[in-house]
Amino acid sequence: MTIEQNPLRLLPSVDELLQSSEGQRLIALYSRSLVLRALRSSLAHARTAIRSGATSPSSVDLLSSAEDLLQREQQPHLRPVINATGVIINTNLGRAPLSYEALQAVQRVASGYSNLEYDLEPGERGSRHVHVAALLRELTGAEDAIVTNNNAAAVLLGLSALAMGREVVISRGQLVEIGGGFRVPDVMRQSGCRLVEVGTTNRTRIGDYEAALSEQTALLLAVHPSNFLITGFTEATSIEALAALAHKRGLLVMNDLGSGCLLNSERYGLAHEPTPQESIAAGADLVCFSGDKLLGGPQAGILVGKREVIAQLAKHPLMRAVRIDKMTLAALETTLRHYQRAEAETHIPIWRMIAASSERINRRATNWIAQLQEKGVVARRQQGASTIGGGSLPGETLPTTLVALDDARTPLPLEELARRLRLRRTSIITRILRNSLLLDPRTVLEEQEPEVIQALGEEVNRGASI
Ligand SMILES: *Cc1c(COP(=O)(O)O)cnc(C)c1O
Repeated sequence: MTIEQNPLRLLPSVDELLQSSEGQRLIALYSRSLVLRALRSSLAHARTAIRSGATSPSSVDLLSSAEDLLQREQQPHLRPVINATGVIINTNLGRAPLSYEALQAVQRVASGYSNLEYDLEPGERGSRHVHVAALLRELTGAEDAIVTNNNAAAVLLGLSALAMGREVVISRGQLVEIGGGFRVPDVMRQSGCRLVEVGTTNRTRIGDYEAALSEQTALLLAVHPSNFLITGFTEATSIEALAALAHKRGLLVMNDLGSGCLLNSERYGLAHEPTPQESIAAGADLVCFSGDKLLGGPQAGILVGKREVIAQLAKHPLMRAVRIDKMTLAALETTLRHYQRAEAETHIPIWRMIAASSERINRRATNWIAQLQEKGVVARRQQGASTIGGGSLPGETLPTTLVALDDARTPLPLEELARRLRLRRTSIITRILRNSLLLDPRTVLEEQEPEVIQALGEEVNRGASI
């Protein structure tokens, strides 16, 4: 067989490709071994294509397809996305974005050494928990505070330290699954305490708790049902009543609040979300909540309460397993300072989104539509609702103006458009409802707007040309 008859032989060798100036440029960018692997893969693809009748690609083509592969491979697997869903605390999309200042704090603390566990005044070993304890005392009114890597860990730690081997009384209406497999009864079992359910799903009175107390009782637990709502004929027992009963019997009350809302949610047109400060004032001995739900900070679990209770947690062996890291602490301290300085609403992204006025969102939507029109994309405004998400304030919504692209006026199927928007270098997550692709400006950061307009322009027009 001559060379002309066998196009496989026209393919350059991997060494030739590596030696070429383009090959050397890729090596400088990605390392020899990664480029070698990518070139082998391009050559293998070319051979397969040739065997099924394609012509032999040039060296330029092979190097360029290797570069495409390298670029795709080297994209971070965990990467930013633009949230156009209107779900503010979107657990799948990483919950709360951090404030600019919180990010700077992480950068400062993590790019070098820090006083994480070093007390600078005496020059000796210190505790990592002191960095946020004073702020948490001030903001919640609690005697002391300690932090873990998330609220699930906080619940596990609290129950293990305070009730292992003993009984914990909880209302049947609060034996909830939070999501992501976090079921209150399972966590209680894991903490080695025995669950004593009282009341019914919709009604639990203080008398129900009282009747369930025994020699074995350690704790009364109240869990904020977070992601679901029991409506109609309901009755839950207040923390005040639980605390009065528990303290009369020498027992403790623990309150898992879930979200950790420090602001008054009613000021933003939302239902009342119980706050840690209310729970502490009502007499709870231990209150725990998340760092990245309505607090708007990093993933963390925050425990505030009575001094002796926090001291017990601090010395529990589980504490070491669930401890918070320095980057989280830096972000958490800075987030808490926004509350201390009464600037949460303007500095913390989720509160800025919650506080955004309907007029402002309407203006942004109108503006997007005008910019899209210039790119030949037809969109219209549609009244809709943003949700809080993250298992916070179930059923609560904020009126918003959506940007809608209708199926009938979009040159490619909406599912395909949504997919292409997701698969762009900067993903944009949208939703489709009743033949329209919807984008909610509320959850799109203002600096991301040009990217959204650009992406819609490119993808819709690319669709039109196919
Ligand atoms: C979300 C939630 C948790 C878990 O908190 P994470 O910070 O996600 O670990 C626990 N309890 C309640 C009531 C919650 O809403």
